[in-house]
Amino acid sequence: MYKKLCSQCYQPSFSSSKSNQWICPVCSKDLTSHKAIQAVHAVKKIPLSAYQPNMGTGYEFDRKG
Ligand SMILES: [Zn+2]
Repeated sequence: MYKKLCSQCYQPSFSSSKSNQWICPVCSKDLTSHKAIQAVHAVKKIPLSAYQPNMGTGYEFDRKG
């Protein structure tokens, strides 16, 4: 997967091949000669514990009143 940033509308576009003709889907500018950068679909896996607040469940805050 490759990505190019349009020099005319500045919107990113994606393609599975960087050698094919590349037309901006937004403004139809020819981006074929533009430099393609590899777009990696790697999702950072964050352990679930990283989302836990340090003070616990937050239950104590719900009890007031
Ligand atoms: Zn464009």
